[in-house]
Amino acid sequence: MRQIRQIRSVGLGLLLFGTAAFARDFPQPQRVADGVYVLEGAREHFSRANGGDIANTGFIGTPAGTVVIDTGASLRYGQAQRAAVRAATGHDVVQVYITHAHPDHFLGNQAYADVPVQALPATAERIAQGGDQLAQNLYLLVGSAMAGTAVQAPGALATPTPDAVAFGGRRLQLIALQGHSSADLAVFDEATGSLFAGDLVFFERAPTTADADLPAWLDALDRLARLPVRVLVPGHGPVVRGPEAIAQTRDYLLWVQRTLREAAAQGLDMNEVMRLQAPERLRRLAVLQAEWQRTVMHLYPAVEAGSLPRLGH
Ligand SMILES: [Zn+2]
Repeated sequence: MRQIRQIRSVGLGLLLFGTAAFARDFPQPQRVADGVYVLEGAREHFSRANGGDIANTGFIGTPAGTVVIDTGASLRYGQAQRAAVRAATGHDVVQVYITHAHPDHFLGNQAYADVPVQALPATAERIAQGGDQLAQNLYLLVGSAMAGTAVQAPGALATPTPDAVAFGGRRLQLIALQGHSSADLAVFDEATGSLFAGDLVFFERAPTTADADLPAWLDALDRLARLPVRVLVPGHGPVVRGPEAIAQTRDYLLWVQRTLREAAAQGLDMNEVMRLQAPERLRRLAVLQAEWQRTVMHLYPAVEAGSLPRLGH
């Protein structure tokens, strides 16, 4: 069942931000494999300048129509994405999958009110329950680029998630995982070996850990690494054709785990932990300092308290 609810803060947002235009052009679709396209987001945090367009989204052309993976952060993005789909594939959209319940990935759903939009059951539930709050928070960060945006919660995929669905004979594996959030859907196109990993994989951009369960996330990376991937589309950062994005995400998460544990063992306070430096090889990641500070705020209190529910043992 689909729900459409208006964001009550839209008027407030317009009052606060006026009609200031956001500056970023809509990304051009990159063709990364036969029928597979990616719209790459800015490797930045949310801002008025990027209009919230920081996540990668994509689409797969099939003989039965086009399948979209994630819809961006606003109605404006969803509409521009749908136009880009038609221009690139010559077909309209027949199905949308949402990888997880973070607002940069699903707030364009409204542009697909006439199309099945689906996500894992926990994702659909989280958006239905908390989507308005997520949208309001984003509105305060990006302003007028979200004008007119309302939350449209996806429908829940059948449980257990089918291994593969076919569109005109093109098979897509729907892989139910978790770790970056409480439910993370990965979509794997068998014909081209293209993996839409959602935010389970970041590349050249520090991962977001606000809702993370690190052991589950590391397990999910192991599962993705066993797929015969030829093209990997991370949730944020450039598309890659080798194992380096999964390896870099794992490297970062293991560094986070180790550093927080050692800091707690040494009795460091939160400000001291925030000032710790990442190893040289991770320092080039975009938004590293800001994400590390958020990670410390979200995960360190539990580590300090001696309970490690989301950090592992
Ligand atoms: Zn996310």
